[in-house]
Amino acid sequence: MEGVEEMEIVIVGGGICGLATALALHRKGIASVILERSESLRATGGGIAVHTNGWRALEQLGIASELRQTALTLQLARTIWLDSGKQQESPVSEGEARCVERSKLVELLAAHLPVGTIRFGCHIISIKLDAHTSTPILDMHDGSIIKAKIVIGCDGGNSVIGDFLELKPPKLLSACAVRGFTNYPNGHGFAPEYIRQKKGQVLLGRSPVNDTLVFWFVVPQVYPQDSNVWKDPKLIRQFALELTEGFPTEMTEMINGSDENSLSLTHLRYREPWDVLLGRFRKGSVTVAGDAMHIMGPFLGQGGSASVEDAVVLARCLAPKLREVNLETNGREMTVVQKVGEALDAYVKERRMRLVWLSTQTYLMGKLLLDSSLLPVKLLTLVVVLALFRDPVGHSRYDCGRL
Ligand SMILES: Cc1cc2nc3c(=O)[nH]c(=O)nc-3n(C[C@H](O)[C@H](O)[C@H](O)COP(=O)(O)OP(=O)(O)OC[C@H]3O[C@@H](n4cnc5c(N)ncnc54)[C@H](O)[C@@H]3O)c2cc1C
Repeated sequence: MEGVEEMEIVIVGGGICGLATALALHRKGIASVILERSESLRATGGGIAVHTNGWRALEQLGIASELRQTALTLQLARTIWLDSGKQQESPVSEGEARCVERSKLVELLAAHLPVGTIRFGCHIISIKLDAHTSTPILDMHDGSIIKAKIVIGCDGGNSVIGDFLELKPPKLLSACAVRGFTNYPNGHGFAPEYIRQKKGQVLLGRSPVNDTLVFWFVVPQVYPQDSNVWKDPKLIRQFALELTEGFPTEMTEMINGSDENSLSLTHLRYREPWDVLLGRFRKGSVTVAGDAMHIMGPFLGQGGSASVEDAVVLARCLAPKLREVNLETNGREMTVVQKVGEALDAYVKERRMRLVWLSTQTYLMGKLLLDSSLLPVKLLTLVVVLALFRDPVGHSRYDCGRL
């Protein structure tokens, strides 16, 4: 085809998952190209909890020790219901939990990629399979076309690749999230604890990143009335302060003193656990990973780590099959699609139940933390949580294995 660019492996989206997937492939000696619609790395979005399972996956990518130096270890999770005064202490993770700056993680992943792996300003608008060879064909926003042998959709919750796979669109939670960082130049003095405070319909969380930086979030069960709030950091802070009226002063002072550039307001969306169980995550040589596959609420803090696990498993499954077919020269297109299809099926099979359990636990945790349903419904949810997840930090014990 004239005017069509041909590529081997295309990763759509350069967020945590796309970057981790490219790095995992690179570590296996496989080149890929990330097509990212933004003009630069999207490093916004505050802090991100990384549990033991996430550190294991990051170790496989070779960036864990560098990232560890940026964040302290969290010792404990403390949940406080301010209305009743009830408090609960629990481990944050099975072993190691830290709250890292998302920007640090994203920049580190990108820094370890070969130069030229990421192409910015590349917005994919649709994808189809060639009628004869089943090779994926990507239509770009600028009118250009890319023909790729393998496409991995890491394009987040609103995934074009997910649409192509006919995945059900993620659902909106009846809550949004304000996120921000506050810097205390002389030290914050807070214990290395992940604190969650609940008052009325508002959940407020705080986690130290290092001795001077604190990440916080506010999750209310309302959306701002004024649509300008979504875009304007000053209004976002004002919104967060209004929501947290009556919370302890050290919390409201923290929000008041936050770094304006760090503030964001996000819709919370999730793929229902049964859609993760039943979703078709592979068509031809096209698959999805990260939020495009399993977007979940923030209640376990596992979406990002699960994305890195996806990357490790995907590269591990693909590498041996790619050795069987010579993609560069004499691999016939049908054979490539078939062999790659087998590898992608193995990846989906390995990931599916892990993701079903994570999505289910996140969903139920969200229900317990946010839900305003009647007491019997809450009690029933609690019984289900206790029955299915007797070990509340069992999710962090998972080991995605070697790359
Ligand atoms: C409030 C909140 C708190 C969270 N807290 C945690 C936490 O503590 N721990 C944790 O592990 N996870 C957490 N998560 C989840 C975590 O942020 C996500 O799971 C993770 O960022 C997913 O990464 P991703 O790369 O799959 O998707 P994204 O980060 O959404 O990246 C997708 C990328 O694809 C690009 N893109 C999209 N469409 C196209 C297209 N058509 N063409 C080209 N490029 C495209 C986008 O520009 C973007 O760069 C939280 C999420 C939220 C909302």
